[in-house]
Amino acid sequence: MLGAAAVGGWATTAVQRRIAEPHPLPRPTAWPLLDDASRLNPTPIKGVVFGAESPEATATRFTPLLQRIAAGQEPALAVSGTRHSMGGQSLLRDGWVLDSLPMNAVAVDADGKTMRVGAGTTWQQVIAALNARGLAPAVMQSNNDFTVGGSISVNCHGWQTNSPPIATTVRRLRVLAADGTIVSCDASENAELFGLVLGGYGLFGVLLEAELAVVPNVVYEPAFTALPTREYAATFADLVYARASVEMAYGRLRVDPDQFLEQAIIGTYVPQPDSKGRVLPLPEMAVDGVARTIFRGSAGSGSGKARRWWLEREVGPWLAKPISRNVLLNEPAALFGNRTAETTDILHEYFVPQARLWDFVAQVKTIVPREEGDLLNVTVRDVRRDSRSTLAYARDDMFGLVMLFVQERTVVAEERMQRMTRSLIDAVLDVGGTFYLPYRPHATAAQLRRAYPAWDAAMAAKRRLDPAGVFQNELYRRYGNA
Ligand SMILES: Cc1cc2nc3c(=O)[nH]c(=O)nc-3n(C[C@H](O)[C@H](O)[C@H](O)COP(=O)(O)OP(=O)(O)OC[C@H]3O[C@@H](n4cnc5c(N)ncnc54)[C@H](O)[C@@H]3O)c2cc1C
Repeated sequence: MLGAAAVGGWATTAVQRRIAEPHPLPRPTAWPLLDDASRLNPTPIKGVVFGAESPEATATRFTPLLQRIAAGQEPALAVSGTRHSMGGQSLLRDGWVLDSLPMNAVAVDADGKTMRVGAGTTWQQVIAALNARGLAPAVMQSNNDFTVGGSISVNCHGWQTNSPPIATTVRRLRVLAADGTIVSCDASENAELFGLVLGGYGLFGVLLEAELAVVPNVVYEPAFTALPTREYAATFADLVYARASVEMAYGRLRVDPDQFLEQAIIGTYVPQPDSKGRVLPLPEMAVDGVARTIFRGSAGSGSGKARRWWLEREVGPWLAKPISRNVLLNEPAALFGNRTAETTDILHEYFVPQARLWDFVAQVKTIVPREEGDLLNVTVRDVRRDSRSTLAYARDDMFGLVMLFVQERTVVAEERMQRMTRSLIDAVLDVGGTFYLPYRPHATAAQLRRAYPAWDAAMAAKRRLDPAGVFQNELYRRYGNA
């Protein structure tokens, strides 16, 4: 993944110097195109500007630029973490991009229950700091590559059980507002801004620092159950909700053509007694290996997918060993990432009310083969109701179905993907579900409004809080006024 740090060096220093000057001359620089994890979004931008380690230093550095943008003397600004979103959410054509990666301080509070973390800190950095104290993140994604700011701005979820998305673990935020002031917000102070920023895609201000709940690190015993997908909701309730001890759980669905999406495996993780809070080793993850070869070898191959399913069901449980929470969470996305020039991996995620899971899967079984989608992987996550974020996607207890497709990097493939995505969105809306916004912007504006009934009110709040449109990105350009 091309981190924005890759465009640092002399050019960075030059841009930062200009931003720090009282009256910087707006001169376009010869920047490369910036892309995101989709590898379908090469976007010409005006320049990259870098955050600083402390919130105050970032505010001082950016206030002159924000004022010039508000006065119409500079184009608007998009905020970026590690750009693992896939639809230009972290990019702005011909605009400025604020790279948050230097904003990466981590301080664990003395009581070991919360941490204060710079918004540009990656989970890999967070886990290293917490692990040394016998602690671990409470909620994060299934990979470690993302920034905390990017994670809060999409309101990410993971495979922690019985848990709403990350919003519920956020105690307090410090946000750089469009007028250059630093605003503190939490569930009672500046609560409107708090709700908007949680899952607000960088449109309401720059997240500078977050106070987040942390939990003890622990060693888990894994266990696996194979089942028909039809019985997923009932079996999951027996395996997970009926046993309070399960802290992590995921489902995986069979993707080969033989019994497409009809079989599932549920993996559950229960803490070993007395392992709570122990300081445990955190080995580096190798990004090449047998698991990667088997996974990538199943792209475009029904027999490869069938072989992978057999290995996962029959061999996987024998190989599984006790593993710490931090080791589970510290997996880089690159481990299984697509390295070919011709194709790219595209994620979708649909949130389905738990009782309607099979109804939705039955629709997916028709739609994906009809559009010749190469569905490489499906995981199922337990995402509980979120009552905090304005643009909540889990307005009820949901199963999140994360689907990974391999797509050719061509216009024809992109058109087919758009058609398939719209059909899948219609299917999920019909069962009372929603879809996730960090991925390709293929939804129609009408579909987006059905999935996010608070969208228009949130955009009205955006125009009130940021009347000059200082903070923008390609998601906003696509749907902000749609
Ligand atoms: C391989 C892969 C696996 C994934 N797995 C999961 C998963 O398990 N669960 C899940 O929920 N999601 C998952 N995602 C989606 C991922 O959580 C989001 O794309 C997330 O935004 C990535 O963080 P980032 O640092 O790359 O953010 P970016 O992509 O850089 O930014 C995302 C959004 O956040 C905004 N933003 C970033 N930093 C700030 C800031 N400091 N202040 C204000 N706004 C900011 C940006 O403007 C943009 O709108 C996955 C994505 C990929 C590619």
